[in-house]
Amino acid sequence: MPMTLREGNLEAPTRHPVDWRNPEFYDEAALYREQERIFNICHGCRRCVSLCGAFPTLFDLIDASASMEIDGVAKADYRKVVDQCYLCDICYMTKCPYVPPHPWNVDFPHLMLRAKAQKFRNGDVSRRDRMLASTDAVGRLATIPIVVKAVNKSSTTPAVRKAMQGVLGIAADAWLPPYAGHRFRGSALPSLQWPLRDGALAPGKVAVFATCYVNYNEPGIGHDLLKLLAHAQVPYAIVASEVCCGMPKLELGDLESVEALKNRNIPVLAPLARAGYAILTAVPSCTLMFKQELPLLFPEDGDVSAVADAMVDPFEYFVLRERDGLLDRAFKRALGKVSYHIPCHSRVQKIGQKTREVLEWIPGTTVNTVERCAGHDGTWGVKREFFADSMKIGKPVFRRMEEFEPDYISSDCPIAGRRIEQGIAQAGATGKARRAHPLTLLRIAYGID
Ligand code: SF4
Ligand code: SF4
Repeated sequence: MPMTLREGNLEAPTRHPVDWRNPEFYDEAALYREQERIFNICHGCRRCVSLCGAFPTLFDLIDASASMEIDGVAKADYRKVVDQCYLCDICYMTKCPYVPPHPWNVDFPHLMLRAKAQKFRNGDVSRRDRMLASTDAVGRLATIPIVVKAVNKSSTTPAVRKAMQGVLGIAADAWLPPYAGHRFRGSALPSLQWPLRDGALAPGKVAVFATCYVNYNEPGIGHDLLKLLAHAQVPYAIVASEVCCGMPKLELGDLESVEALKNRNIPVLAPLARAGYAILTAVPSCTLMFKQELPLLFPEDGDVSAVADAMVDPFEYFVLRERDGLLDRAFKRALGKVSYHIPCHSRVQKIGQKTREVLEWIPGTTVNTVERCAGHDGTWGVKREFFADSMKIGKPVFRRMEEFEPDYISSDCPIAGRRIEQGIAQAGATGKARRAHPLTLLRIAYGID
């Protein structure tokens, strides 16, 4: 049978680097040709129709066209598909049988990334989108002590939010995370000098990359991670200096800024990786950026590869330490019922359900696992034009989390956790559930204050 007729892959999926320095990457006609080719394959397949808004938008455009084929769709309308993609990677990682090494070479998310990069280079990007992607700069400003109270008050004042919606395009109804009164990086306690115990599966020392979200919005999650490492007698280091991982810039298609951020982070992280540290972040999107996206953008950079190899999801780290016989499971407190959500950027790391596994170690704890997109997706879900779609995408997650009548709702992605909390509250639920990050739950279960 000729290879091109084969349905799906028999080999493990591989991923080609993003050829973003090639001038053709930014050539509009070349992009249109590639979009037409891949959109046509998707039209014949349609198995991703339920994943997000991008595929239904594409199929509606095709079905409404005169020819009812891809050649009937105006090229200018392709951007409607691109705008619905928030680069979660789920279609590539979990659905598509035509990803490389299949000769059809379908990489839908990276096709969307290319279109976003062209859009960005053409200056077709709003002030709002630039601001939302500047997590570090905005966080630094918002957490200045005399500013933080005013910022937080504004983001919960309906009149201000209406004005923000009108002027900036940030949905008035989207809950925004408050900024913290102190930054994680300035308040993190140094590690005690525990003796180094390397395991067969996981290194005995950890470097913690704070992330913008933990640093500026929820430092408590970072402190919980440090307490858990201390409890496990794992010596840790806070990464000496860091800037945003670049994921929000990637989602905007601003690849030059991704490179600039990479050039500041990697020289700090690579020596830690080479010195045998596991590098942990508490935010799956940031871990994924170092693990997968930077190596695909900079495949020739050995330092980027070294950092990618050292990046470990925190719960993957705890599972590996337990398998090494170096983590105690002496829990002191039951958690009751936990509705736990696995975010897309954890799923595509292909590490299995490590957080669920750890939560299920805890006696007196029942875990209801929900593996589906919660709809927030970086900055996409707070944009005025996408907020309603975003809440619609998240609705089944909100329902499945709530109907379990949990004591806690939890997601590895703290932003998704907030969106789930909003969705449940707006559905009129009167349950007792509290939102807590899985690291916080683990700290509570160990009885650590
Ligand atoms: S990457 Fe995610 S949002 Fe984009 S098309 Fe695929 S499933 Fe949809
Ligand atoms: S991305 Fe792959 S699985 Fe999804 S609709 Fe297109 S061809 Fe089908």
